[in-house]
Amino acid sequence: MAMVDFDAGLAPYAAHSAQSRGRKHAELAPGSRSEFQRDRDRIIHSTAFRRLEYKTQVFLNHEGDLFRTRLTHSIEVAQIGRTLARSLRLNEDLVEATALAHDLGHTPFGHVGQDVLNECMADYGGFEHNLQSLRVVDHLEEHYGAFDGLNLTFETREGILKHCSLNNARQLGELGQRFIDRTQPSLEAQLTNLADEIAYNNHDIDDGLRSGLLTMAQMEEVELFARHRHAVEQAYPGLSGRRALYETIRLMITAMTADLVETSSALLAEAAPRSIDEVRAAPPLIRFSSQMRAETTALKRFLYANLYRHFQVNRMRVKASRIVRELFEAFLNDPVLLPNDYQVQDDPMKQARKIADYIAGMTDRYAIREHRRIFSLDHF
Ligand code: MG
Repeated sequence: MAMVDFDAGLAPYAAHSAQSRGRKHAELAPGSRSEFQRDRDRIIHSTAFRRLEYKTQVFLNHEGDLFRTRLTHSIEVAQIGRTLARSLRLNEDLVEATALAHDLGHTPFGHVGQDVLNECMADYGGFEHNLQSLRVVDHLEEHYGAFDGLNLTFETREGILKHCSLNNARQLGELGQRFIDRTQPSLEAQLTNLADEIAYNNHDIDDGLRSGLLTMAQMEEVELFARHRHAVEQAYPGLSGRRALYETIRLMITAMTADLVETSSALLAEAAPRSIDEVRAAPPLIRFSSQMRAETTALKRFLYANLYRHFQVNRMRVKASRIVRELFEAFLNDPVLLPNDYQVQDDPMKQARKIADYIAGMTDRYAIREHRRIFSLDHF
């Protein structure tokens, strides 16, 4: 049987499966799949991946059936990322694996959950959701006989760890080295990061309008939106409602991806890296043009002020932070409330970390139920 060349057609600066820096625990080559396809498949079969369906993106999972969850968000990131990767002759499989895994460590209730858990863990090493995503794939998943975690390739793990404090980087060995040296990750990792941004900037507009917290008139204060809304009006005079919105968002995604491909192609042509190692030593090469960067920043600021800090979202945030904080404190004061395999004897640091793992792994509704089980005198 002829060997399939999984790296055929890739640019020299792409991440090549055959040249992967490998896995912590040596395994036989996957045979009918590339190394990164195997990573992707392990991620899809993981328990943490299925939990994403019930974790908040912006709106709580039960607030409406049509809002994005962490799961549909991750799928949109993978889809946009693969399009970008193919245009730039980068490794689609690696981008897909990284995109599907990038939010695995997210707490329930979105960013507020992570912020509160970080405060609770202040004396115990802190909590970072990027690092937690890595912890999920390196340690917490229990699927294989030979090792803890999913034993993913260096390249996928490098892409998952977008940010990391210097302190934590020093404890991560070769994966943390780039934060100390201030070098770049693979182009696939850089690209997935921006695909994430394209996905949430656009789908949060859709969800914001669907929820009624944002209005079309308000959105037109944002130049990037107004310009594409105007183009839709030119193409389909009188079109309104959801179709007008979807057409506008469609044009915005197209504009952002086209800008990113064009800008990055020019940077790559100029720097002409001959390998992934030269990519790692170069400045960031996957970027938006300065005009698109300014426009997406304005859009982000708008969403922050008008959606993420809308009073109705704030009410959810305050409740969610109480749930996370009260659960953490109850478990820390009384570890016997924890399931047996989360109880640690005589080691407060390890006990606190186990509590953080337990809470971070909860879905929104599980955390709400757990809070009720522990605190409500009406439910036993
Ligand atoms: Mg994300």
